[in-house]
Amino acid sequence: MSSAAPLDVDLALVGGGGAASLLLAALDRHGVRDLRIAVVDPVHRRGQDRTWAFWGPPGGDLEPMLSARWDRVEVIGRSGPRVLELAPLRYAMLRSGPVYERAAEAERRLGVTRIVSPVGALDDDGHRVLVRGADNTPLVRASWALDSRPRRPDRPGRTNWLQHFRGWWVAADAPMFDPDRAVLMDFRTPQPARGLSFGYVLPVDSRYALIEYTEFSARPLADGEYDAALGAYRDLLGLDPAGFTVREVENGVIPMTDGPFRRRPSPRVVRLGTAGGATRPSTGFTFAAMHRQADQVARSLAAGGPPVPAPAYPRRHLWMDAVALRALDRGLVDGPGFFERLFDRNPAERVLRFLDGATTPAEDLAVMSSTRLVPMATAAAGDTLGRLRATRTVPPPGAGDRPPG
Ligand SMILES: Cc1cc2nc3c(=O)[nH]c(=O)nc-3n(C[C@H](O)[C@H](O)[C@H](O)COP(=O)(O)OP(=O)(O)OC[C@H]3O[C@@H](n4cnc5c(N)ncnc54)[C@H](O)[C@@H]3O)c2cc1C
Repeated sequence: MSSAAPLDVDLALVGGGGAASLLLAALDRHGVRDLRIAVVDPVHRRGQDRTWAFWGPPGGDLEPMLSARWDRVEVIGRSGPRVLELAPLRYAMLRSGPVYERAAEAERRLGVTRIVSPVGALDDDGHRVLVRGADNTPLVRASWALDSRPRRPDRPGRTNWLQHFRGWWVAADAPMFDPDRAVLMDFRTPQPARGLSFGYVLPVDSRYALIEYTEFSARPLADGEYDAALGAYRDLLGLDPAGFTVREVENGVIPMTDGPFRRRPSPRVVRLGTAGGATRPSTGFTFAAMHRQADQVARSLAAGGPPVPAPAYPRRHLWMDAVALRALDRGLVDGPGFFERLFDRNPAERVLRFLDGATTPAEDLAVMSSTRLVPMATAAAGDTLGRLRATRTVPPPGAGDRPPG
């Protein structure tokens, strides 16, 4: 164990992935220059390790980094495709490479210290946080620790699903894709016994696209099953495998649960990203909330305030998601039918703003009433019962404080 004194900083970013990278860029953008910052992560993230798709208004700091953008997307159901006009929003694709590069540039300008090491415990005495290495070595002492290490929810949810997927970046020998036709969800894939699946296609140009197979369900598939599912989806799209090369493979597992992610486990520790509840339970979409929260934290720090963002989603939306997840998991509603109905009965822009947590209660009511009433009421009653039972079994303090080992 090293006896070196810990590095003294104002801000320790524990985990340097998506949330931390967006925050570094936001701090730079907001002109924060007088903070001592350290990033501690066993991996210095660079290059293309994931692709973020998200919606939002055009413009803003991300615009120059986007690989592609679409004003309309398709949702393909069993009854055929529907085209969703997204204006005034648009769907966008951002690859991780430019985000990590932008963060590295910000790190240089902000004079950030990088510590390439895993973090173990965070000891918060209410004034300072001691960031310890995995072997308990004190690494950093910080006024605030912003922790984005992946973790489980603080207690298991009543529904614990995953969004799990594999994508192929395919390069075709001849034009194969229409760059204006992005598919958000294609439900013609075989549906799992419990859960739902869909494919999607995000074309960057006529020869280059991301094709993905996604499931929302309780357990990931075995490796070969993803390839089989993607191969079947490729065939469904009528793409000749002899006409393209798979350039990159992208895998992911994202929590979809009503289990709580505590945002502020102690006075000077703030959780960001998926660990801080930025993942929308009903969809797995996370990026827009992380981006929003990075901006809030940077704005607050630039104004001399604390680095504490607003909750990623309103409580009522988390409740609605818990009910929807329950209805899907218990088979009370048909998965593809649930999403198709949502898009059939609402303007796409309303659904997307709802998923961002930005709709008014009146709009929420409109979204809710577009779902099937009886099964959703059954799920809501089940959720209430589950909550009542949970209040009788309160977990011990500190339960779930550590990331999964
Ligand atoms: C392949 C993939 C594609 C995705 N696509 C989308 C998308 O299209 N749209 C969307 O909205 N969301 C998407 N997501 C979900 C979400 O946006 C990403 O997971 C995002 O990267 C989450 O950011 P984060 O900072 O919370 O976690 P991460 O980016 O995973 O960062 C966590 C960091 O913590 C570090 N770490 C781990 N253990 C320790 C430790 N002990 N000490 C210190 N550091 C540690 C890791 O090395 C990592 O760098 C995707 C996720 C994946 C995996």
